[in-house]
Amino acid sequence: MSLALARTKIVATLGPASSTREVIARLMDAGADVFRLNFSHGDLETHGRTLAVIRELAAERSEPIAVLGDLCGPKIRLTELVGDSALLAAGAAVALTRGPGPSAAERLRVSYDRIVEDVQVGQRVFIDDGLVRLVVRERRQDELICEVVVGGVVRSRKGVNLPDSRLSTPALTEKDRVDATWAVRSGLDYLALSFVRQPDDLYELKRLLKSLGSSLPVVVKIEKTEALDHLSELLDHAGGVMVARGDLGVETDVWRVPLIQKEIVQRCRRQGVPVIVATQMLQSMMDNPMPTRAEVSDVANAVLDQADAVMLSGETAAGRYPVEAVEMMSHVVSAAAEYLDKQPRHSRRDDLPYYFRTPAALAHAAARAALDLSVRLVAVWSATGTTVRLVARHRLPMPVVGLTHDERTWRRMNLLYGVVPVRTEPTENPAELISRVDSILMRSGLVVEGDQIVVVGSTAPLSPGETNVVLVHRVEA
Ligand code: PEP
Repeated sequence: MSLALARTKIVATLGPASSTREVIARLMDAGADVFRLNFSHGDLETHGRTLAVIRELAAERSEPIAVLGDLCGPKIRLTELVGDSALLAAGAAVALTRGPGPSAAERLRVSYDRIVEDVQVGQRVFIDDGLVRLVVRERRQDELICEVVVGGVVRSRKGVNLPDSRLSTPALTEKDRVDATWAVRSGLDYLALSFVRQPDDLYELKRLLKSLGSSLPVVVKIEKTEALDHLSELLDHAGGVMVARGDLGVETDVWRVPLIQKEIVQRCRRQGVPVIVATQMLQSMMDNPMPTRAEVSDVANAVLDQADAVMLSGETAAGRYPVEAVEMMSHVVSAAAEYLDKQPRHSRRDDLPYYFRTPAALAHAAARAALDLSVRLVAVWSATGTTVRLVARHRLPMPVVGLTHDERTWRRMNLLYGVVPVRTEPTENPAELISRVDSILMRSGLVVEGDQIVVVGSTAPLSPGETNVVLVHRVEA
């Protein structure tokens, strides 16, 4: 274990380009902290095999690699096209309908069976991330008659977005329920929910998880503008947030995406909610061994904004250079972190929900002391990871070592900004806590005798929510 610079974590999506043992091992070597299994692609049997490989490799290396499952939600797609593709010419009329059967240039079918009811005349229909654009001119009993405004080639199963329409579909599809149940039974560490529009969407998934006896943290994907209207309530109940810029850039004007990203990252940081910036970060590495300067700049900016994590999607799942993409991201993250370390820091003191007040106040005190004294690191003893999250939100220039006896907490902490997760035996004895911290940190090479550190802990170390101690301390052998 090394005293790496406090840094932003890397989430790598796995797929056909990266599901072998060899590639997954190389992605770990390259710096991946969290792997994403995307339920939009592949079947559960394949995901199960990939998960087994991740767990095996992580156990061999004693690394707290976390696994995030990503539910596909009510993603709308075209059905198969006759001949696999069709040219839609600008100005042409196209009928849009639902139900089984193939699509063709003059009649497109989608996987959403309420499309005729939910989409009104004058509203826009985007295909393939908005590359092809239609406007609805007429509603008939069983179809919408659209005009092609921006023409182009459409292909089988491409995504369809309805940015102007209020959809009546539930956020959780039958497939999502099956996938979420699998995620719980397979012991995943996070579960992401797509196309969230309102808090009820999140509550529905949480109810399902509760019925399965699980408190799996739910990462809310922000990709619909409706979600922005409910951001405060969503953040109060989210276990994490993903700025899902792919669909977000279709659902809203693409030039608003960077501003929305900044706003979400800031608000998540203020509230101590882990936040991931996702999609097209090194997109050109799908086909090239080097990214564009603009892509590198995008990753660096997310690090400078101090997001908890940056994510690779197609680059690692289906690109030609999955390992190189993670290596590149690691370089960009380290360089930007080094720059950040030279900037003056202030600890944060924003209000938090009342149920976090005590641990938040102690986390603030610990962060303030750590900055004022330039200590080597902050060690946080935590059963659930909540106090670690609250210290991490201060984005300290020194590492935050999260100590826990709980295996799931150990892996979950690997998503958090600047956190080095360390697993340890439980102790009931608060007096023993400090000497245990010293010996664990010295054994793992994170400190040497005499280093000054800040310790955050509890006089009841095994009970969640009981954080009540901040201690400035010199490490003793
Ligand atoms: C996105 O739209 O940016 C995203 C992360 O979601 P998905 O990869 O599931 O489309």
